Order: sequence, then C-alpha cells, then structure tokens
Amino acid sequence: MGAGEGCMRFCTRVWIPDPDEVWRSAELTKDYKEGEKSLQLQLEDETIREYPIDVQSNQLPFLRNPDILVGENDLTALSYLHEPAVLHNLKVRFLESNHIYTYCGIVLVAINPYEQLPIYGQDVIYAYSGQNMGDMDPHIFAVAEEAYKQMARDEKNQSIIVSGESGAGKTVSAKYAMRYFATVSGSASDTNIEEKVLASSPIMEAIGNAKTTRNDNSSRFGKYIQIGFDKRYRIIGANMRTYLLEKSRVVFQADDERNYHIFYQLCAAASLPEFKELALTCAEDFFYTSQGGDTSIEGVDDAEDFEKTRQAFTLLGVRESHQINIFKIIASILHLGNVEIQAERDGESCSISPKDEHLSNFCQLLGVEHSQMEHWLCHRKLVTTSETYVKTMSLQQVVNARNALAKHIYAQLFGWIVGHVNKALHTSLKQHSFIGVLDIYGFETFDVNSFEQFCINYANEKLQQQFNLHVFKLEQEEYMKEQIPWTLIDFYDNQPCIDLIEAKLGILDLLDEECKVPKGTDQNWAQKLYDRHSGSQHFQKPRMSNTAFIVVHFADKVEYLSDSFLEKNRDTVYEEQINILKASKLPLVADLFHDGKDSAPAATTSSKISVRSARPPLKASNKEHKKTVGHQFRTSLHLLMETLNTTTPHYVRCIKPNDEKLPFRFDPKRAVQQLRACGVLETIRISAAGYPSRWAYHDFYNRYRVLVKKKELANTDKKAICKSVLESLIKDPDKFQFGRTKIFFRAGQVAYLEKLRADK
Ligand code: ATP
Ligand code: MG
Repeated sequence: MGAGEGCMRFCTRVWIPDPDEVWRSAELTKDYKEGEKSLQLQLEDETIREYPIDVQSNQLPFLRNPDILVGENDLTALSYLHEPAVLHNLKVRFLESNHIYTYCGIVLVAINPYEQLPIYGQDVIYAYSGQNMGDMDPHIFAVAEEAYKQMARDEKNQSIIVSGESGAGKTVSAKYAMRYFATVSGSASDTNIEEKVLASSPIMEAIGNAKTTRNDNSSRFGKYIQIGFDKRYRIIGANMRTYLLEKSRVVFQADDERNYHIFYQLCAAASLPEFKELALTCAEDFFYTSQGGDTSIEGVDDAEDFEKTRQAFTLLGVRESHQINIFKIIASILHLGNVEIQAERDGESCSISPKDEHLSNFCQLLGVEHSQMEHWLCHRKLVTTSETYVKTMSLQQVVNARNALAKHIYAQLFGWIVGHVNKALHTSLKQHSFIGVLDIYGFETFDVNSFEQFCINYANEKLQQQFNLHVFKLEQEEYMKEQIPWTLIDFYDNQPCIDLIEAKLGILDLLDEECKVPKGTDQNWAQKLYDRHSGSQHFQKPRMSNTAFIVVHFADKVEYLSDSFLEKNRDTVYEEQINILKASKLPLVADLFHDGKDSAPAATTSSKISVRSARPPLKASNKEHKKTVGHQFRTSLHLLMETLNTTTPHYVRCIKPNDEKLPFRFDPKRAVQQLRACGVLETIRISAAGYPSRWAYHDFYNRYRVLVKKKELANTDKKAICKSVLESLIKDPDKFQFGRTKIFFRAGQVAYLEKLRADK
C-alpha cells in the first residue's frame, strides 16, 4: 500500500521499512518517474540509500505527513493514514511531550508511561467534568466524561471497553475511569456507595491478581463492572461479572511468578494472634506459594496490603468473623498443597500418614472429617452401568486430583467473594442507567498456546467484531447526517472466524463432543478438527504436527497445541471429595459447595453420600454431564456481547511500550505489534477507505483563505467560497464531498492543500 501515484518529486518525504525501528523516514534526492527501478533516498542521518521499487506492482513507499499534522491529538486527522504515520505520531507525542493519551477516531490509545504522572488528581477530574471531548487533551477522564455525558444526553447505557496485553495498563485505566465516576457523580444517599465501589478493587486484586513475568500485579481474570446511576445520575450501586479465572496458578507458578497475592498477604500476617489457628508460616514453606522462587515483590509490602484487603472487606460489610472464615479457606488450600502423599510399592496406590499435620490442618480449618478426606484423597469411585466400586489411585493421579480440588476450592471461594461484593454493592434504589467498564485480557500469542489463550483470543475475536461493526455504523451514520452520498466501506468481517470457533460443529462444539466420549483424547479431537475444518480460510493444520492447529485470527495466526484441552475443558473434580466439603461443619464451606452454588463443573452431579459414617456407603452417581468450561465461557461471552450491544461503547486501547517496564521508553516493534493486534490499525484502514479528513467549512476557510482568489473573497457565503476554491484546486471530484457542516476529504488531500499553502 504505497502512495498510489506513479511519480514522486524531489524532496518528497517517505517512510521505508526498517528491521529495528519498523519505519524510517527518508527524503527523495531526485525525481522518480513511473517505471524506474529504484528511488534515490537520503535518510535522516544523511546516509544515501537506493530503494528498490518492484516495477510490476509499482508500490511506492508511504508518504510522510506535513509537519503541522505531527503531534495531532487525533490520529484520524492525519492526511496520510497508515501504519508509519500512526506509529510516528504516537512516538513523538509520547517521547517529546510525554503525552500518553492520543485519540484514534473513537479509540483512546493509552501508552503505559511506567511513571506516576501528575495528571490524575481531583483538580484534573474537575477540569474534565462537563467539558467537551474535543476541547480537552485526550485523557481517560475525557472518555469517562463522554460516557457520563452521553448517558444523560441520550438516556442510554454506556460501556468503556479497555483492552491491551498484559502490563499495558488496563486495570489502572479502569480504576481511573471508576474513580472519575465516583468523584463527579457522588452518591445518592449517605451510604458511601461510591467508596464501596472503589473498595471492590483491592479485594479483587488480592484474590485475582498475581505477579507474572510481565506484570507484578497482573489480573488473572476478566471483569465487567456495571456502575448504576439513578435518574439524577448519581451512583447508587454496582455489579460485577468476572470471566475465566486462571485456576492453574493456585497449584503451579512458573519461574519468577507468584500465586494470587492473598496467599502471601495471609502468610505475612501469620503471626497475628487472630490468625494463630490458621497454622501458617512464611510463604517459602508452602509448595503452592514457592514454586516461582522469590516470594516477595519489589516495592510491595504484603503485610501492609493485607491490611488494605481487610479494610476493604470491612467497608463492604464483611464482618471480622466472616473474614476469618474466608482466610481459613485460603489457608486450608496452602495446607492441602503440603500434604505428603506416599506412593505404595505396587505403584498403583498411595497413602497419607494419619499424622500428616497439613492434612489435619486442612480438615480442621474446613471442618471436615479427617478419615474421610484421607481416604478419598487416595481413592476414587468408579461407576459403571452394572456396578460401583472403589479404586486406588497412582501417585500422579492422587496429586492431580488433589490439585484439582485445591483449584476448585479457590475458584468457588473466588466466586463466593464476587457474589458477596455484588451483594454489598447492590441497591434497592431504582437504577435509571449504568456505565459498564470492561477490563479484559487482550489478544495473546506465546510460544506455546493452550486452552487459556484459545478462550482469550476467542473473546477478543468477538470484541473486535463488535468494534468493527460499531465503527462502521458510526461512519455510515456520519455520512447520512452530513447528507453526503452513501459510500459502502468494505470492512473486515470476522464472522467466519467466530463461526469456526463457536458454531455448530465448530472447534468448541467438537471439543465438547470429544469430552463426552469415554475414551476421547486431545489427539482424536485434533484429527476431527482437521477432518472438518481444513477447508476453512481461518483454519490450518501445521505441516509438522498431528496435534496442533492454527487459527487465523483477525490480529494474527496462532498455533494452539491440543494437549490437555480436553482436561481443561472438562475441569473434573472428584465428586467424593466435594461431598466431604459439602458436609462441612462450617456454614461458609458447606455453602460454597452446595448444589446450585457449585458453578464450576464437577465430573458428575452430587449423589448424597453420608460422609459422617466412617466409610461412605457406595451409591451409584447419576451421571449427568455438567457444562464444560468452553461452554460456560461461550455463554458468558454471549451475555457480555448482548449487554455491550445495548450500550454506547467507548474504547480504550492500552499499549505497553517496552518489556523492561522502563519509564518513557518506546520500542517501536512492540508498539506496532500491539497496534495491529488491538484493531487500531484496522480503524485507520476503515477510516482511510472512506473520507478520513473532515473540516468544518469555517475552519477550512480560515486555514486556506490564502488559496482563494481576491475576487472570490468578496462573496459573503463562506460555504460557497470553499466549494468553488476546492473545485478549482482538486480536479478529481471523488477526492472530496461537501456535507452539511463539513467538507470530507479522501486521504492525502489535506497534505496536498498544505503544500499549496506552503508554496504560496
Ligand atoms: P494485566 O493484563 O496483566 O492485568 P494490565 O493491562 O491490567 O495487565 P496494569 O496492571 O493496569 O496492567 O498496569 C501494569 C503496571 O503499569 C501498573 O502496575 C503501573 O505500574 C503501570 N501503569 C499502568 N498504567 C499507568 C499509568 N497510567 N500511569 C503510571 N503507571 C501506569
Ligand atoms: Mg489488569
């Protein structure tokens, strides 16, 4: 995609590809005529370069924008709209003026500065309050204000959709948006509801965030918080939905990573008298908190953070006595992870010493019977059509089942806390409207991609579609409003990719099918995918593999390894173990696992087993398949999309500018990667395909009056002057359109007019 024109003049400034900087600026040192095999260029460091041109395609390099446009706070105002222009503008704003926010049409691009900036104070909030978006510097507060204003003006619910990769600044942005609403709208009564809404953050971060190699405070779940307003637009309550908590972290952490913060916070507070019964020591002592190595985070005091977590719980009305129960469950998970399992010599069975202190602590803390737990950690019940029998398990099976139990307990507790936070934020007052804030993981590709990445990328595929349709609709609406002829813009519709994933006999459907087959395997599933989808334009089979598959997503091709998809989708927990927990003496524990509340899919439904007897009587479980993780995720995504589609969306795309977390350092390669993945460049493309530049008649007149002939200036109708001058300057009538209040230009026209103006 070059400038398109066949010739280029001496001194024309262009962008050429560069392996390090992605794009480099250069200037023509001599005229270029169509058909010539190369351009003569001088780079900014004055080196001379011959740049080859493919004569067949005659693709010329991208043109640079005139300098007056550089630093524009809306990228779509650029006359030449393409990747190098976008990248350059963002970089100049970020590095030269420390502007981290830039608009790209309706999207706010936010680059993580990795430095505290003095732009989030109360004074700044009030400065943005009541202002028009166009009159102020781009800011997350401007987006929040816009949502708030539109909610009142259009009587319509709003959403702020924040996306970006890990560490890009999504959660920070979402928090600032919430703080904005809490500040400008106040609360309806003296319930301090806005304080409670803000207090949900430390709780959710304690139980759902962890240190990863990319982000010391990485959210390992997605969330959509709806803030409710009354008819005078004051906050009356809130409600939160969460998506796909990363459960595997509870039992496993990669090098330099940690488990969820709450575990370390609790260990740091272990010596407090009220926590004596938790029998905790330091985090290094527990398997579930020490696999990543160093258990501390630089600059973080876990004990101090724990105080904040407790205060937030208190603010949300969770009594101390209730809090201690939550902490008991968290501590019990750590003890469960330390239970010593001995393999018997036969290699097919295991045992746990009756003296195992960690198992005693676990049972004590959860109020369950020790002998039961000991037995059902090492045995499982098998139900066939004719009989039910108890089988021993190998060490690996026992460890897997134990880990599955730990993950399940944590996930149930997480869900319970979310439910509790929601209860505390619930209001009986009548909700007039809401603003939803979505903080959800962006598109990801790693060296090895599994079920988690698949789900995340599926979510992003859906969000991207919602975004494309919205941008497209807005463009068309603007054309209609301005009464300019309907131009059908072609835009990338990713419905085929979404169908590949979620339609009948699509990837998820076949996965569920395979999970139901008693002897189903990851490999058989992969084979079924190849058989069924090899013809799809969004699906590929890698040449060298019989277990991997490639999905061509909107952002990139991603290769997924089918290994353990079945297991992760089934998410099996042994029913016998769950039944013991259901019979707990502690109401909270029993509550967590009770039917209906047991939202995570267990392998089978509950058959009531009396766990109070020394050995549970065997009862055939009525086999019924619970919803798989994939199925649940699909359902919750559909619900999310349904909600988003009833709101007016506002988009924030966060960019992580470097991987070293260094302040104001801009790595162009990383930035471009993310701009491609988050759809900013796609917006630019949609924009560039239509009429990207728009000038109000009056602004146009003021800037370009120098191009107007004296005798024409006598005309008092400025609109007429604009029309006649443009028609004489730009011969091709397709390059512009006269709307009701604005003139619409094709790409490059404003740059051309600028040049005429400069030559004057
Ligand atoms: P994840 O997907 O891992 O949850 P995220 O996109 O939510 O990542 P954040 O936790 O919001 O990322 O940000 C990571 C870190 O970057 C923050 O802890 C903070 O240090 C820094 N940061 C992000 N945004 C800003 C900002 N606007 N000003 C200063 N620092 C910021
Ligand atoms: Mg986050």
